[in-house]
Amino acid sequence: MDDLRELYQEVILEHNKKPRNFRVLNDANHEADGHNPLCGDELTLYARVNSDDIVEEVTFQGSGCAISKASASLMTDFVKGKSIREVQSDFDHFHELVTSSPSSPAETEGLGKLAVFSGVREYPMRVKCATLAWHALQAALDDEGDTAKTE
Ligand code: ZN
Repeated sequence: MDDLRELYQEVILEHNKKPRNFRVLNDANHEADGHNPLCGDELTLYARVNSDDIVEEVTFQGSGCAISKASASLMTDFVKGKSIREVQSDFDHFHELVTSSPSSPAETEGLGKLAVFSGVREYPMRVKCATLAWHALQAALDDEGDTAKTE
């Protein structure tokens, strides 16, 4: 557990400092905002999905705590190239992982680097930080039309 905790800190710090896919995606056809008022995390998620329902590109912008940023960074790398259905099942799996009891074994198989977020289980207050990007991605993908914008 100590190793995982160390890795957790390391990965979060690194991705917070240098987030992957941290930019506006100009040719996005799905977009959604995510907001976690408990912590003050805000982000916008951009995705380009092709006609076969494959998520070709995912990026994000925004500001928030290290966990929300690192989670968005790792998630965007993780879901790229997957189908919408796979992304949904990944989210279910990830959500189960971060909300499971810290005393139970972490079910991380198939989650790759996202496994380090099992560290969040010890900090229930941070679960919303860790899942914010996923909620935003889900909202973006649920939107059938073009980019949802109010202006
Ligand atoms: Zn946060």
